[in-house]
Amino acid sequence: MGKQYKFTLTEKDIPEAWYNINPDMPVNPAETAWNAVLHPGTREPATPEFLSVLFPMRFIGEAVSLDRWIEVPEPVRDVYKLWRPTPLFRAHRLEKALDTPAHIYYKYEGVSPVGSHKPNTAVPQAFYAKEEGSAGFTTETGAGQWGSAMSMACSFFDLECHVYMVKVSYQQKPYRRIIMEQYGADVTPSPSNKTEYGRNFLAQYPDSPGSLGIAISEAVEAAVTSQGKYKYALGSVLGPVLTHQSVIGLEALKQMEMAGEYPDVVIGCVGGGSNFAGLAFPFLHQNFTNGKNTRIVAVEPTACPTLTKGEYTFDYGDTAQMAPIVKMHTLGHDFVPAGIHAGGLRYHGMAPHVSALVDNGDVEAIAIDQLETFEGAAIFSRAEGIVPAPESSHAVRAAIDEAVKCKEEGVSRVIVFNLSGHGLFDLAAYDDYMQGKLKQYAYPEEKIKAAMAHLPEVSL
Ligand SMILES: *Cc1c(COP(=O)(O)O)cnc(C)c1O
Repeated sequence: MGKQYKFTLTEKDIPEAWYNINPDMPVNPAETAWNAVLHPGTREPATPEFLSVLFPMRFIGEAVSLDRWIEVPEPVRDVYKLWRPTPLFRAHRLEKALDTPAHIYYKYEGVSPVGSHKPNTAVPQAFYAKEEGSAGFTTETGAGQWGSAMSMACSFFDLECHVYMVKVSYQQKPYRRIIMEQYGADVTPSPSNKTEYGRNFLAQYPDSPGSLGIAISEAVEAAVTSQGKYKYALGSVLGPVLTHQSVIGLEALKQMEMAGEYPDVVIGCVGGGSNFAGLAFPFLHQNFTNGKNTRIVAVEPTACPTLTKGEYTFDYGDTAQMAPIVKMHTLGHDFVPAGIHAGGLRYHGMAPHVSALVDNGDVEAIAIDQLETFEGAAIFSRAEGIVPAPESSHAVRAAIDEAVKCKEEGVSRVIVFNLSGHGLFDLAAYDDYMQGKLKQYAYPEEKIKAAMAHLPEVSL
């Protein structure tokens, strides 16, 4: 029957439980559990009362849970059925283009209605808020992927969605804003006049292009001052988000079994760490408990080198120092990124779980320049057809490099990477690349050093 290109599951294969890595973390749980989440004002461990102002209780419960398996609620599974299970592809054509003995597979999350993995967590977060009687959410978005996922999830559960969108993206990338509005959300360019933080920031920096850290501060303030009406949704970084994303890896485990292979290398791009963790943690679970020895590789941009150049320490989750303090790799909470195109990879911090695993040597971290990632994306599109999101292109490029190494070494390895989304709303970035407008860019070491002077002092 010739070669098989796609490994597809049926709706009954959508996992009934997410994988929660908390009980399997090989490092001190105090460094990743909710008890190492500090209140930004007191810098003491945050209380459930403080956190419950921001997040649904069920979400907080997941963050501290030591249950390895957390049930996917039926209403969430029902929404997942709109696009899940997602396909796993064997990249035969890419292998041929690279003339490599490697076997390359990719899990494709771009088949969701908004074109990325993000609805995997937006949907349960919306469901929990509905269940607990909230009127809706405030949230932030950079390039708009998270905002569009959250807007869609809110529309499914009849909730309001108020999105603070980084101003430069709001102005330059109207399509994502239009999608959010199509789902009924209201979208505000950040910094804005709607919050006290935004007003103060604008008074000081009227021409600010905004940043994810600033938008988070505005969204958090809007939730905190809503007298319980709105919860705040975060699309990455937090433990429960990583748990929700584990549907990716749990499906991929089954699909690799269908393919009759097991990965030697698992690769994902990292912004806050959620799509990477989603694919990688179920394979790490096999490393920890089942004698497997898969290399797990996280790929970030040289323009935002959180894991490879940042410090592993306590820092604020946002610029205004209103979001909780956690221990993570960080470039400093006042990080303002260069205008690189992988908008989803520009957060100053990293998921505490991912940071701890890198620090402990369970996960490798590498950084790739944007020019190389666009070059990798072109090789991939011409072989496989899909135009990857610029974020995902980091994983694409890392997989290509691994496959080329296999050729040089004359060995056949099995490579699995996460194609976290498609790039059909990012064509302006591709245009810039093709017109030679993109430059190599590495975030300067001096800036990281300077930012470390502003870290919170904590007594842990
Ligand atoms: C948001 C986004 C990312 C980065 O976020 P993570 O939490 O690190 O996964 C990566 N890829 C795509 C397509 C995204 O939309």
